[in-house]
Amino acid sequence: MTGSKTSGEHDQATRAVSAGRVGDWAEHIVNPPIYRGSTHLHANCAALKEAGKSNHDGHFFYGRRGSPTQWALADALTQLEPDAFGTMLYPSGVAALSGALLSSLSSGDVLLMTDNVYDPSRGMANGLFKKMGIETRYFDPLDLDDYSAKFCDRTRAVLLEAPGSLTMEMPDIPRQAAIARERGATSLIDNTWATSLGFPALRHGCDIAIMSLTKHVGGHSDLLMGSASAGERHYRRLRRTAQQLGAYVSPDEASLCLRGLRTMPLRLQRSMDTARQIARWLRDRKEVAHVLCPFLEGDPGYSIWQRDFTGGCGLFSFVLAGRSGAQRAALIDTLDLFGIGYSWGGYESLALPFDPASMRSVMRWPKPGWKEDDRLGVRLSIGLEDATDLIADLERGFAAMDKI
Ligand SMILES: *Cc1c(COP(=O)(O)O)cnc(C)c1O
Repeated sequence: MTGSKTSGEHDQATRAVSAGRVGDWAEHIVNPPIYRGSTHLHANCAALKEAGKSNHDGHFFYGRRGSPTQWALADALTQLEPDAFGTMLYPSGVAALSGALLSSLSSGDVLLMTDNVYDPSRGMANGLFKKMGIETRYFDPLDLDDYSAKFCDRTRAVLLEAPGSLTMEMPDIPRQAAIARERGATSLIDNTWATSLGFPALRHGCDIAIMSLTKHVGGHSDLLMGSASAGERHYRRLRRTAQQLGAYVSPDEASLCLRGLRTMPLRLQRSMDTARQIARWLRDRKEVAHVLCPFLEGDPGYSIWQRDFTGGCGLFSFVLAGRSGAQRAALIDTLDLFGIGYSWGGYESLALPFDPASMRSVMRWPKPGWKEDDRLGVRLSIGLEDATDLIADLERGFAAMDKI
């Protein structure tokens, strides 16, 4: 779905309030109506034929192509992504990743993937893509020489992510995207962590910006959805591929997602502020060997985060100092205010144990220079609770951990 360009001078929160309000309904009502329907009716046979021929975005045609409800969400995301021409919606973040990658790759091509990628992206590459004859090579996101050396004349696409999943390394995305462009490869970024508000990926040189809307945009842990935004040329490919794959999101969920989007800037800011307080507190704890948080002063990724990003969110990780798996479980199981489960970016805080060693091909875990025993990770997704309450909860967790 294509939308008008952002009126860039407005603050992000201001833009998020009214983004996507286009179409006849917007003159009469604040939120788009929920149009449920597979069949769209055409006035006569001539109109049916005409609709099939032009088949533009934003015209009723057939349910799978969406209705004003889905178009409003896609338009809003386009308006919030500087330099985007259009946005496609997908039934999940993973579906957005596969749909966008398939729009850029064919059998015989080579895909470069950041080694700290979201693990299901690795599963997609090593499963479906391998079966299709697409070869994937993993590179160290912190080593531009390694990245450059992995290109060959069959490299058609690179999948970037910032920061890396679980381990939170902050790569130099503008350089990585520029190198991909020089080498004639399409650069795609999984921009779920910062969103277009915290990292305008297309403006930093990426070709396709992908988000799991399940996380921050939905924001309430009650839906799954994904998006891919791009300039005109890549958008046309995204659209063609998504239509061939039958990608579709329901109007009910698009409406919920749009509701989440209105408060996203506020939620992101609040979660990040609280997360920074907790990260600082964790850094001073003797039970914690490393805090992995690019928006924390002193983090190895902090200078790049400051240079390239205008925001962040409540998601970061820490590594326990020489504790056992049972001790880590005692810590997490003791927490009252943190749920245990996948996903993140909702209004409630979550804690997740992670062990990335088996999810890396070229990067080491524990990281170079770390003690071998400092390896058990905990990822926190900070929600909208009070920082003092969350810290008290973690303090109880540490006490329980060290009773074992
Ligand atoms: C959760 C997540 C996804 C996938 O999103 P779903 O909507 O759950 O399919 C993709 N990338 C990252 C970085 C994620 O954290």
